[in-house]
Amino acid sequence: MKWPNRPVVAVVGSINMDIVVESSSFPQPGETVMGRSIAYFAGGKGANQAVAAARLGADVRMIGAIGSDNFGSELLAGLKAEGIDTRGVKVTEGASGIASILVSGGENEIVVVPGANGELRPEDVAANASLIEEADIVLVQLEVPQDTVEAALKLAKTYGKKTVLNPAPAGRFPDEWLPLADIVTPNETELAALVGEERLDDPLVLQEATNKLHMRGASRIIVTLGANGAALSLGDGEIARVPGHRVTVVDTTGAGDTFHGALAAAWAGGLELPEALAAAVKASALSVTKEGAQTGMPTLEELSSWMS
Ligand code: ADP
Repeated sequence: MKWPNRPVVAVVGSINMDIVVESSSFPQPGETVMGRSIAYFAGGKGANQAVAAARLGADVRMIGAIGSDNFGSELLAGLKAEGIDTRGVKVTEGASGIASILVSGGENEIVVVPGANGELRPEDVAANASLIEEADIVLVQLEVPQDTVEAALKLAKTYGKKTVLNPAPAGRFPDEWLPLADIVTPNETELAALVGEERLDDPLVLQEATNKLHMRGASRIIVTLGANGAALSLGDGEIARVPGHRVTVVDTTGAGDTFHGALAAAWAGGLELPEALAAAVKASALSVTKEGAQTGMPTLEELSSWMS
């Protein structure tokens, strides 16, 4: 399988090291418990989405920041090993971003320290304008400072590029961003947060919520629905659903990131949006059948040969 065109994708976003510690119980304040295992996984929504797009044959340019610590060099090497152009990744004095994830009995507690990600500035976007100019699509999330995300969206629009705004993790951003995004892509929790609802499982509530976002300026909205796939709303009152693939779930970490990398690669690669969406639903379903976020992301060959 090949995309009609060679997709070029620029990602402006976070780069983290995920540190996963397993223990038999969560410590109470002041208590020490012995852990069972520790593992390190390259992560961060920006880097994850960049890797997902690269695995699927996109030419990816990453704009982000890492620290001057060992994690930073490892994370940079990992991105390069995926064939990602890292000229837009700056190294700041100090710590790389980390997520400290404590897992016990199927539950987890997570502390995220943005570190270098918090140092990614609008000027860094401006300094890497050529990377955005070379891209077909610019993909952003909410794990780097808001003014940086805004600068990326504005610059992308100045160059007439397609833009995808993944409003993750859940939070608010100025409504002025909505018209700058060709597609806004919340999951159910993120959509609920954006429109101030508790939950959204009812189809009518989903429709109301997307309508509210359209009224506030969103042109196209894709809502990811976990095992139920995704829904596309173009603001004409209709919601087109792409059902999820039935798979044996091993690990859903990074499903949303795989979805976004795949959507960007397929759309930039010349597919029409509904077909690109179907490819993203398929790629993300395939990713949940494997352990790990980046480790579970499929290649283009795996995606094309996977029947489900
Ligand atoms: P996030 O990972 O951001 O919470 P979702 O849970 O909506 O996002 O998942 C993103 C995409 O991953 C979905 O649109 C779907 O295609 C796929 N996916 C997630 N969970 C499953 C599952 N259990 N079975 C099949 N596909 C899944």
